[in-house]
Amino acid sequence: MDKIFDRIVDNAIDFLNSSVDDLKDKPKYSIINFSSSIELFLKARLAAEHWSLIVTSQTKQVPDYSKVKSGDFQSVNLKEAVTKLDKTVQSGLSDNEFKVFDKISKHRNKAVHFFHEAHSQDSSSDGVVQEIVKEQLIAWYHLYTILTTRWKNIFLTKLDAIELVNQKLKTHNELLRIIYERIKDQIKAENAAGTIYSACPSCSFESLKHNLSNIDEFYEVNCGVCDFNKVSFYSNCTNCNNSIFFIGEGQTECTSCGESFYPDFISEKIYHGPSQYEVTREGATAFNDINCDECWENNSVVETSDGSYRCTSCFEHFDNVYECEWCGGYTTSELEYSYLSGCGECEGHSGWHDD
Ligand SMILES: [Zn+2]
Ligand SMILES: [Zn+2]
Ligand SMILES: [Zn+2]
Ligand SMILES: [Zn+2]
Repeated sequence: MDKIFDRIVDNAIDFLNSSVDDLKDKPKYSIINFSSSIELFLKARLAAEHWSLIVTSQTKQVPDYSKVKSGDFQSVNLKEAVTKLDKTVQSGLSDNEFKVFDKISKHRNKAVHFFHEAHSQDSSSDGVVQEIVKEQLIAWYHLYTILTTRWKNIFLTKLDAIELVNQKLKTHNELLRIIYERIKDQIKAENAAGTIYSACPSCSFESLKHNLSNIDEFYEVNCGVCDFNKVSFYSNCTNCNNSIFFIGEGQTECTSCGESFYPDFISEKIYHGPSQYEVTREGATAFNDINCDECWENNSVVETSDGSYRCTSCFEHFDNVYECEWCGGYTTSELEYSYLSGCGECEGHSGWHDD
């Protein structure tokens, strides 16, 4: 298994390197190799669970170890990989992450079918290359975050190599400098008028606009250079009272004193008294014991003042939460036959019966 995992990750890194190298002169190949790299990283995560998961279930082929080892098999596509990560590995992607990767995959198909060599002169024009860079930086931001946090233990032996290619890819942001130069004065003016700007986690320019109104509330950030946007949260450091920003996730550090903050901090800030389900539940003490089905974090979902729900770890928003009929736990995705088959946290009546 390990050999298959290693080979897939090494391939993924190779493709990413080629994608970076090809960007300016052969953007078509950059798009294709970038997309392959993302799919390979997801497949590597599947292979870490079990090698047979990278074989597509859409044909009638029976997963054959020797064929997988020699590469002679039809592998899962992006959509199937994402489904298997969710259902089998139970470490799926959020909707937002899937959308970002799906866009990359669609552009790959377009590049393969419609990008003729004859057009390559136009295609390497600055505008096209800038659009590709924006898309790749944002997709890589998401993938890099997954690889170095949620899947960190799986990719531990590969993190150094991943960091190297991360540094290399980040240098592409220089191709966006022309956009930054164009909006720099406007940023300065807005900044002087009180709008907060900070460094963008995707393109690194000081062009991330914070559209915030109140402290301890969720709001949007968006980047004027690369179009990166995320739900964020703003509060004050409990240690030095400096402003702290959680960009798209429930973990951050105070830039002034270095104090670390976690999702619990946000849960406490936005908690508005017992929610509807807690009132009806006996013996409920924890105020945020709803599990998130987007990021698989436990106890991270909290009811907000408008009666909807927000995960304080991945910042995903939910209209409803659902109770498991077997263990009484709550989760953010609708459960079917939960009395029998359980939820993400329990195996339901059938699991209990087996023991
Ligand atoms: Zn940006
Ligand atoms: Zn501080
Ligand atoms: Zn979440
Ligand atoms: Zn359950």
